[in-house]
Amino acid sequence: MSPASASAAAIARNLATVQERIAEATARANRPAGSVTLVAVSKTHPAESVAAALAAGQVLFGENRVQEAAAKFPSLRPDWPGLRLHLIGALQTNKARDAVRVADVVESLDRPRLAAALAEAMAKEGRRPEVLVQVNVGEEPQKAGIPPGETDAFLRACLEEHGLPVRGLMCIPPAESDPRRHFAWLAERAARHGLPVVSMGMSGDFEAAIACGATHVRVGSAIFGARG
Ligand SMILES: *Cc1c(COP(=O)(O)O)cnc(C)c1O
Repeated sequence: MSPASASAAAIARNLATVQERIAEATARANRPAGSVTLVAVSKTHPAESVAAALAAGQVLFGENRVQEAAAKFPSLRPDWPGLRLHLIGALQTNKARDAVRVADVVESLDRPRLAAALAEAMAKEGRRPEVLVQVNVGEEPQKAGIPPGETDAFLRACLEEHGLPVRGLMCIPPAESDPRRHFAWLAERAARHGLPVVSMGMSGDFEAAIACGATHVRVGSAIFGARG
């Protein structure tokens, strides 16, 4: 357990605050109420933190490691039939089957080999979680994601070669610069392809992401506390 994990009461309070800030940012952007969905990122925090969030009404969670997700979530599912899990972190091809088993959405499809591995895993498991393509919007060498210039071709390959259920795009923009131009780019590219999901914005920048068209924001520390 992360020493900084928030208490159950604090998690409920933080969730209410984040939901309020999402509603305000949505209204400021003249977007329909309820058009932005909160993914509560529970990575590194214990199952008790997830249970506290569930008790406070949050049913959608994000985890970045398959093994951690598989340890925390399956035991909660029987009591919480509405529970949904998004995988948001780098995924090794040899974990594709585990990912397909545990996730409702895989947000981090970031390379051709993983597209092939996910397609094969879905066929074997008979389960088809939705997929988002992660774009390396800042073209940062250390970061995962499809280069912006290759996004169109990669999307075509995912749909036509692999038959993947691609629903949208995801990004993590460069930390140091103003993220808005990257957010705007991602939303425009998703719209151009008729993709309904745009996953962008974290604790530090989710209001800017909503102003630029995010449909899903991924918020961790503002809900669960700092990570150890
Ligand atoms: C950890 C993580 C988040 C949440 O980050 P916070 O700053 O804690 O809100 C969002 N997206 C991804 C991909 C992450 O790995």
